[in-house]
Amino acid sequence: MPAVPVPDAAASAPGPVAARVARVRDRVAAAARGAGRDVHDVRLLVATKTQPVEAVRAVVAAGVDLIGENRVQELTAKLPALAPEVEAGRVAVHLIGHLQSNKVNAVVGRVACVESVDSFALARRLDRRAAALGVPLDVLVQVNVSREASKDGVDPADAVELALAVARLDAVRLRGFMTIGARTPDVGRVRAGFAELRGLRDAVLGSGAPGTEHATELSMGMSGDLEAAVAEGSTLVRVGTAVFGPRPAPGGAQNSAR
Ligand SMILES: *Cc1c(COP(=O)(O)O)cnc(C)c1O
Repeated sequence: MPAVPVPDAAASAPGPVAARVARVRDRVAAAARGAGRDVHDVRLLVATKTQPVEAVRAVVAAGVDLIGENRVQELTAKLPALAPEVEAGRVAVHLIGHLQSNKVNAVVGRVACVESVDSFALARRLDRRAAALGVPLDVLVQVNVSREASKDGVDPADAVELALAVARLDAVRLRGFMTIGARTPDVGRVRAGFAELRGLRDAVLGSGAPGTEHATELSMGMSGDLEAAVAEGSTLVRVGTAVFGPRPAPGGAQNSAR
C-alpha cells in the first residue's frame, strides 16, 4: 500500500472557500487513486458547525452538495436561510452530532440522514416520527471504534446487533455506519479503527438480514485522517477545518480581536 502523505489540516492556507474545497477534493482523489478506488465512490460532506449561514452558502456555491451540522439548535437556526438551496436539491443536510431523544421532533423532516444513531431507543423514536410525518429518513449507526470514553457511539461489540434491529424498522432506512477516528498520531491505530468499521458494515451487509441491503455507507475520515479513511473504504468523508480553518477553541482562548 503506497504511503499517502497527510497534510497538516491546521496549516490550511486561508483563501477562498472554493479553493480550499478544491484542495480537499484533490486529497480525496489522490487517496482514492492510491487505494485503487473510484473517486466517485467517496462523497464529501462539509461539517459546518459554528460557521455562519454565509459560509455555508459559499460552500454550496462551490459545488458541495452535502453539509453536516452537529447541534439541533444550530441546525434549526440555520435551516430557514438555507431552505431555497435544500428545496432546489442543491444541498442535503445530515445531522452528525449526538442527538438526544427529546430533540427528535426538531430533526425528522429537516435532515436527509441522522449519522449519529447510537441506541435502539433513539432509532425507534426517529422511526415513529418519520412514520407519523410520512417522510423518508436515512440513518447511520455511529460506532465508537477508538473506544475513547469521550466519544459517542455504540460499542463495536454491540454494533451489529443494533444495526440489525434498526434495519427492521419500517420508516427509517439503515444506510450504514459512522465513526470518528482515534485521536492519535499513530496512523496504524487510526486505520485499524476504520478497518473495524468496514468489517462491521461487511458483516451486516453480508448477513442478508431484512433491511440491510442499503447499509453500504462508511462515514469516516475528517480533515486530519481522511487519507486513512479512504484507504480503508470510506464512502463519505466529513471535513470542517480543512475548508474553514481552525475553529475557535471552546472557552474562547483565541487571539480574536475584540
Ligand atoms: C467537526 C466534525 C467533523 C469535521 O472535523 P474536522 O476535523 O474539522 O474536519 C467531522 N465529523 C464530526 C462528527 C464533527 O463533529
